[in-house]
Formats: sequence, structure tokens, C-alpha cells
Amino acid sequence: MVNAMMQEMGAEKAHRKQVEKPLHELSESPSARPGRERDASAEADMVRSAQYMRLLLESTDEGVFGLDPQGLCTYVNASGARILGYDPSALVGKRIHEIIHHTRNDGSPYPESDCPSHRAYQTGQGLRTEDELFWRRDGSSFPVEYASHPIFMGGNIVGAVVSFVDITERKQAEAERARLLAEVRRVAAELNVTLTSIADALVIYDPTGEIVRMNPAAEDMLGYTPAERKLPFAERTALLHIDTPEGKPFPVEQVPGQQALNGETVYGVVMVLHPNGKTFWVSGSAAPIRSPDGQIVGAVSIFTDITALHELQEQREDLARTVSHDLRNPLQIILGRAQIIQRVPGNEKMVLTSAEAIVTSAKRMNAMIQDLVDSVRLETRQLQPQKQPIDLRSFVQELLGRGRGMVEVERIKVRMPAHLPPVSADPDRLERILMNLLSNALKYSPPDSEVLIGVEATDRWARISVADRGVGIAPQDLPHIFERFYRAKGVRKAEGLGLGLYIARMLVEAQGGRIWAESEPGKGSTFYFTLPVA
Ligand code: ADP
Repeated sequence: MVNAMMQEMGAEKAHRKQVEKPLHELSESPSARPGRERDASAEADMVRSAQYMRLLLESTDEGVFGLDPQGLCTYVNASGARILGYDPSALVGKRIHEIIHHTRNDGSPYPESDCPSHRAYQTGQGLRTEDELFWRRDGSSFPVEYASHPIFMGGNIVGAVVSFVDITERKQAEAERARLLAEVRRVAAELNVTLTSIADALVIYDPTGEIVRMNPAAEDMLGYTPAERKLPFAERTALLHIDTPEGKPFPVEQVPGQQALNGETVYGVVMVLHPNGKTFWVSGSAAPIRSPDGQIVGAVSIFTDITALHELQEQREDLARTVSHDLRNPLQIILGRAQIIQRVPGNEKMVLTSAEAIVTSAKRMNAMIQDLVDSVRLETRQLQPQKQPIDLRSFVQELLGRGRGMVEVERIKVRMPAHLPPVSADPDRLERILMNLLSNALKYSPPDSEVLIGVEATDRWARISVADRGVGIAPQDLPHIFERFYRAKGVRKAEGLGLGLYIARMLVEAQGGRIWAESEPGKGSTFYFTLPVA
């Protein structure tokens, strides 16, 4: 506005030159010549408008300077003089550069040729800049928005008008905005890192139940595609096939995220998720996200994977069941037989058979307890193998020699190549593996059938096999027989805890090998395991 007005001021000045009268006189006296009344009234209009312009310029907060083509001040408004600390009347006729001391924002000097006022009255090019500091007479400075406009008349530059305004507050507001923005960005980045590094699955929903944010743990667990995240809550949740811990379908309205969207805060809801064929036991918690006025603007859910914890709990239950049930069998025999001895101590035959049964049952109990202890030790890695080179041929011969009387060694045949490389294994562990496989092979096959030990070797691995012609293993049992406490249904013999093959697997794997079985029900089974060549 000021600039536009100043252009008109330039026009007023030219007009003053033409009429050659001071401004106050023009404004006060009507024309003295009656024959020129029209001219006089036009003149009066101009004077009024010039006065009006001047009034406006004097009332603005902007500093306004009028300059002649040499850069001398022809006009300085009150604000301009006040802002810089001068008396306005002392400035007219002075060079603009003596009055306005300015530097760039960083304090570096400003060449006169770059100065906006100079450019306007010298080259006819106006300029607007915020890249400057103005220095007051008292030595203080302030950031300024500085603009210049040339004034043309008849194609010539007749002067310039410069205006400036103190933008300290604007700059402070901008700096504050920038500081706030940086703060928001920092907090957002912090939040992002926090969400990403949380090990629990974290999901944020909008008020319609659409997923707006998931951390990597949630992406891994739930496996939703970007399109699935936008599905309605119930439709998307159905993809997880959620069950209760008892195996019943989990009601969607009780899923923590849905409860939170309904305004509830829930903790520790145990669910079994089945996303994409996987299974996760999770403990879910959720809370609504509210705006300051209490509106629900979303919800946040956290799923803690408790699958490992659940398995541990199952193992504990298995263990309790096994200890209470399977260990009680031989114990009851011992008890019963001991009572017989108490009742008929004189019956020597009865006492002898009872004593035999007691010894057998006690040995079975002992073996079971040993299996239990070993399996726990293996799981907690307390049984580290002490490996050494072992010649399999002599090792197996010695083992069978020692086993005479304990297992039916006469049913066992050995087939090995003449030259075998030594394997790297822990002899005690290897004996345990072989004894477990041999006793199973003898146990689950007819009393007169043969059990065959075979070995084949490459230059890196030896593969040891134990084959029987026994009952075999049903296809549905085969994948599970190396699991803890697993016993095939129907063919199980009361002696074991279902730990023998589990222990064998742990021992083979601890020595860097692999164990597996092939079987045909009714025809027999072959168990294989590998050991590295020394
Ligand atoms: P257990 O002490 O009950 O024998 P194992 O872990 O040694 O436990 O074996 C697990 C199950 O695998 C057994 O209950 C049995 O059903 C089956 N099994 C193991 N070896 C044989 C075999 N040679 N022939 C048939 N079934 C076998």
C-alpha cells in the first residue's frame, strides 16, 4: 500500500513543481482567477488527495522514505525516523546511505550497489528483501523487510520510494514455528524408533477399526497385507482364526482391539492366533485413544507372544502327568510284591519271584528317572559332549560285549565295511544313543527276529542304522516319535516314558549329527543317525 501511495506522492511532487506553490498554500487557497474555475477545482482535488496520502503515510507503522535520483531524502515519514532513532526534519536532504545502515542477516556488510534503494533510484529496479538487519542510531539492530520502488515520469527515473518494517516479531514467530516443527519431528522420530524396537506386536487402529500403524513385530506375527489392514475389524480378525485357550472360536467382540474401540481398556486376554497357518499363543491388551475432549479417535493393541511360555507350561503338565502316572506303575508293582513278602514270608518261591519283580521294577524306575534327569540336563545344556575320534567297528563290538545279559545281544547282527574312517563323538553319548535304538528295536519286534546294525561312510559323514523286523510305526506317529514324551498309541509298551528317542535326538544333534526313521507298519523300522568323520 505504502509503495503505491508513494508513487502518487511522486506525482504530487511533480505537480507542485508545475504550480510552484507550497503545499499548505495550495490546500488552503481557492484559485484567484475566476475564468479558470474548472482548473482550480481539479487542482483542489489533487491537493486534497495529496494531503490524504500524506496523512496515510504519517499514520502507518512502516518506515517510508522518498528519494531523489541521487539518493537524497525528499521525504521521511514519522515511523521511519522513529524506528531508526532520528528526528524526521533532520533527515530530508541527507543521503539515504548516511541514514540507513544495514547489513545482511548474518552481520556481513552489504555493498551499496546491491542495496534495494540504490537499485531503485539508479537502475530503476525495485527489490523486496527480508535478508537484512537495520542498525539504529543507538547501535541496536532489528530484522527488516525492506522494499524499494523506482518512480518514473515520462520514461525517466525521478526518484524512488523505500519502505521498511521491523519484522522482529515475525522472525521470532517463524523461529518458534521452526523450533516446534523440529521438536515434533524429533518426538515423531523417537516414537518411531520406540515402536519399531518394541518386541511385542503393536497395532494402532483408527476409530473405524482400520489399521493405521503396525510395528515390525506385528507385521511378522499377523502378516496382514496392506489391503487387509483396511478391511472392517471383524472381517480382518476372521483371517486370524482366533481360538480361546480351550480351542473354541474366540468371539470377535471380545478381541482386545474391538473392546478398546468400544471404549474399554483390557489386559492379559489370552488368545490362540492362527495367521497364515502359523500358531501363536498371545496375551493381548488394548486401550482406546481419546482426544482431549474425550472422543475415541482410535485404539492401540499390544500382543505379547506367549507361545514359548505356553509350551513350557505344557511340558510341565506333561512332566507332572508322566511322573504321577508312569512312575507309579513300577512303584505299585514294588509295593504289591513287598506286601506279598510281608504276608507270606515263609513261601520261598513266592518271595523269590516277588524279589525278582521288585528288582526289575526298581531298575525300570531307575531308568525312567535317569531319562527324566538327562532330558532336563540336555535341555539346559548341562551335558556337553566330550568328543574324540572313535573307531565304530571296535566300539560296537565292545558295546555288544558289555551288553550281554542286559539286552538280547544274540539277536543283533552287525554289517560294516572293512575300512571305516573314525568318527568324532562322545563315547558315553554314542553308547546311550545306540542302546536306546537297540533296546527299542528289540522291544518292538518279535523275540526271535533279527536286529541289524549297519554303517556307511563318506569322507565327511558316517551314517549308522539300526533296523528291526518288528511292528513298525504308523505314518501318523512317525513325524512325532522324537518328541518329548511321545509314545505311539496302540503299540506302546508300558516300560518307557517316551523319552528314549527324544534323548537320542538331543544327543545326536549335540554332536553335530541328524537322526530320522523310516518304517513300514507290520514289516519293521530302520533308524538312522549321522556323525561327523573325525
Ligand atoms: P519309549 O520309552 O516309550 O519306547 P521312545 O522315545 O524310545 O519311548 O519311543 C517313542 C515311541 O516310538 C515308542 O513309544 C514307540 O511307539 C515308537 N518306537 C520307537 N522305536 C520303535 C521301533 N523300533 N519300532 C516300533 N516303534 C518304535
